[in-house]
Amino acid sequence: MTTQRTLAIIKPDAVAEGVVGQIITRIERAGLTILAAKLVHMTLAEARGFYIVHRERPFYESLCAFMTQGPCMPMVLAGDDAIRKWRDLMGATDPAKAAAGTIRKDFAASIEANAVHGPTRPRRRRSRFPTSSRASSSAPGRAR
Ligand code: UDP
Ligand code: MG
Repeated sequence: MTTQRTLAIIKPDAVAEGVVGQIITRIERAGLTILAAKLVHMTLAEARGFYIVHRERPFYESLCAFMTQGPCMPMVLAGDDAIRKWRDLMGATDPAKAAAGTIRKDFAASIEANAVHGPTRPRRRRSRFPTSSRASSSAPGRAR
């Protein structure tokens, strides 16, 4: 048994459609626990930062505009095999290709406005802040 935590986001299209409750019900029925949730209206700068891995993709600017069109609901989910479970609940990126009974099949309008976000795999363990003794030493290539 692998207990994991994962980020889930109910995207602005689903919040505007009023299906937050239905999506949360599916999460709870799957046995996942919601550890945190918040309604957030991202700025364009925040969306560009969040989706930085996609900056070279043709849909990047449009995706960032979509994610800032209204509030979204980021959540922390926890449970056994949470990343895969949440991914299975979401369905394929393109709702036209998503399996029956998935959130994207039932609530998404397009490959862009696809109701929910979730990661594909666990993040590699790596500190975002220079808190380790190594990071605070004068390692080559560091500005400080
Ligand atoms: N996206 C898009 N056009 C595409 C592919 C993706 O607008 O052709 C958007 C869509 O909202 C998707 C997000 O970019 O959820 C991130 O893409 P990714 O390939 O990581 O899909 P996901 O992991 O969300 O299924
Ligand atoms: Mg992805």
